[in-house]
Amino acid sequence: MAPFHHPATLAIHADDKLNDSTDVAPVIHVSTTFRYTNDLAHLNPVADEDAFESADISKQPSHVYSRVTAPTTTRFEQILSKLLKGDVLAYSCGLSAFHAELTFLNPKVVAIGKDERGGYHGCHGVLNLYQRDLFADDAAWDAAGLGSGDVVHMETPLNPTGVAYNISEFANRAHRRGAYLSVDATFGPPPLQDPFAHGADIVMHSGTKYFGGHSDMLCGVLAVNPEQERERKAQGQETWWRGLSVDRIFLGSVMGSLEGWLGVRSLRTLELRVQRQSENATELVSWLDARMKEPGVVADTETAGDEGEVVRKSVGKVMHASLQKNGGDWLKEQMPNGFGPVFSLTMQTREMARRLPSKLHLFHHATSLGGVESLIEWRKMSDKGVDDKLLRISVGVEKVEDLKMDLLDGFKSLLAEL
Ligand SMILES: *Cc1c(COP(=O)(O)O)cnc(C)c1O
Repeated sequence: MAPFHHPATLAIHADDKLNDSTDVAPVIHVSTTFRYTNDLAHLNPVADEDAFESADISKQPSHVYSRVTAPTTTRFEQILSKLLKGDVLAYSCGLSAFHAELTFLNPKVVAIGKDERGGYHGCHGVLNLYQRDLFADDAAWDAAGLGSGDVVHMETPLNPTGVAYNISEFANRAHRRGAYLSVDATFGPPPLQDPFAHGADIVMHSGTKYFGGHSDMLCGVLAVNPEQERERKAQGQETWWRGLSVDRIFLGSVMGSLEGWLGVRSLRTLELRVQRQSENATELVSWLDARMKEPGVVADTETAGDEGEVVRKSVGKVMHASLQKNGGDWLKEQMPNGFGPVFSLTMQTREMARRLPSKLHLFHHATSLGGVESLIEWRKMSDKGVDDKLLRISVGVEKVEDLKMDLLDGFKSLLAEL
């Protein structure tokens, strides 16, 4: 594959060399076990060094058993390694990827956001299994003795608000102590951000969200910093990718073969979907924000005055990276191609937040995010710690004008009930 191909092209062609049939669409392989060769000259017993050389598939042995590798998942990993720009391993879900990361890095201390910087509640749940310490600021890191080999785990953009944090700043603070920076980049998939370009050591995604993109598969992904891997290879050290690969054999948390196939299907359209979703979300946010700010007067439609009043009577606050005042240059550098497709609203009252989803026709009331369908969730349904007026919105690929009208009609029917 020519090195200069763009991500949109790599999403379609990065796995071409793994296509060993004449099918244009990838073949569905479901076998758990694979025949050894009948060619006695090549029937070699297992040797440790042969197990995994690198993510370069041409150097890997053929498939043996699907807890180790499987054809559909290997194709999925091959494409994602190009899109994330670091060697990738796929797991059964996002939390199993995070668990695998902790098992591999084996830190004594893990720093992770608390309270309004809390991020995904499930990652806290994984940490609770280990009873590890949770902190956000430098004083707390000092007190906990966060240092060499420990882990700072950040999430950006952050669940559920969609607000972004500065990866370079966290990378510098972690690296000064010899700690690693792990970034959960689920809310900012390619082409929106590249955490390695800003100092991340390891990047995690819940592939259930944008990589899957159709609300029909669970998947987790870890990618390792490519420059550091080159350095490890140059110094004759074991790569992180290899260490994680061997761990995964024994953790057993691999993706199912059908999920691997669905994942390949999904990655083909990742850029199209994410760009459209990002544009839709940013447009919805700015449309709401304009009506929040301009009392009674918005110039763009005849009914704008009424629209503004409806929005202001319903919504208390809109949260999204596109509205961040503290963003400045780092935010534009970190997210040059658009902001994440998830944002949050706080409604005027808890009751309005509880009722709005049932008034909408184009937003399913459901948890999760990242699919082509727009979702809205009264976040209190799945996250205990969150403001009870908060609605999380995952914007899909529908026409944004239709989404605006659905929200506006929803607000109106809410207000009619008061
Ligand atoms: C969904 C999600 C996870 C967990 O991923 P699963 O695939 O559900 O295990 C972790 N982090 C973030 C930010 C998520 O949105």
